[in-house]
Amino acid sequence: MDVSDRLRPALRGFEPYDPAFSPCRVNLSANENTHELPGELRAAINAALLATPLNRYPDPMANELRDALAARHGLARENICVGNGGDELLFNLLFAFGGPGRRVVSCPPDFSEYANFAAMCECEVTPVWRSPDDFSIDADALLAAAGDAALVILTSPNNPTGDLLDRALVERLLERTNALVLVDEAYVEFAPKGASVMDLLPRNPRLMVLRTLSKAFGLAGVRVGYLAADPAVVDALGAVRQIYSVDVEAQAVALAAVRHRDALAPVVADIVSERERLFAGLTELPGVHVWPSAANFVLARVPGAAEVRRRLRDEHSVLVRDFSATLGLEDCLRLSVGTREENDVLLDALSVILREEA
Ligand code: PMP
Repeated sequence: MDVSDRLRPALRGFEPYDPAFSPCRVNLSANENTHELPGELRAAINAALLATPLNRYPDPMANELRDALAARHGLARENICVGNGGDELLFNLLFAFGGPGRRVVSCPPDFSEYANFAAMCECEVTPVWRSPDDFSIDADALLAAAGDAALVILTSPNNPTGDLLDRALVERLLERTNALVLVDEAYVEFAPKGASVMDLLPRNPRLMVLRTLSKAFGLAGVRVGYLAADPAVVDALGAVRQIYSVDVEAQAVALAAVRHRDALAPVVADIVSERERLFAGLTELPGVHVWPSAANFVLARVPGAAEVRRRLRDEHSVLVRDFSATLGLEDCLRLSVGTREENDVLLDALSVILREEA
């Protein structure tokens, strides 16, 4: 049965998400945290799961978790909305504040779901393309585009380019436009201290900050993200969300993780130092250009990237993400930072392939 002509027109042409996953010895394709969870954290999570009854519906707003997250950031429960991953919150933001006739501005190349969700929610998207050389954002072009936009989405560090946002630009956007401004900080725990714009929240009711437990916390499979924002935004999202989208197990795991987050510091520090080692190793390889990154991945321009990605997978059982087909990212691979052993496997395999191809 062909249902395509019965679909809502805005949804035609979308396909089920395919992460192009194939089982590999080393999977560095999805910016996950590949380190084992610290023992203290694993034990706290296991105990929390054992103590969680499964027969009752979850607390819809996950208030205990909201309180723990609010305490993490010096905010109040009313400033936090949790979601089934950052993805749910991104969709709900566009659903709530977008719609036909509303414009969304973002700075590609960035997280592809922004444009997908915006299109599904029938928003018009205005891209302000980053510089092809260093991925910097043209502040004047962004301010001009943001003038009458409903929502501006910025990413810091940006996926897949790894660069940080200039906080002065966020301040200018808030001062000079009337747009809601979302700063997606999914990877900010890997950035130098002071990178977050969370501290601007109390004075700026149009600012929203997205966080996730999928990256630094190593809980991508649990599906918990959160938005920190003005209570009016949190209420609006609370009204449109699927009421039980964050299940009892996800709430229990997230709460244990947030309470024991200090145990994660050595893992994050190791990923940051491995990122710098991976960066240095990549710069030694023939023909490779690599951009500095503040996240848990690096973007590298590699001659014949699509073929290199295929050979990494088929000959070395290493999976990375190919961005060759993305505008502005020709011949680019995104390499997640793994453990020391995984990064060595990647560097050795790349070195073999690139010396053969050269
Ligand atoms: N924002 C960015 C920039 C991302 O890269 C991702 C995941 N890849 C997300 C948000 C959403 O992550 P999650 O749904 O796992 O919280």
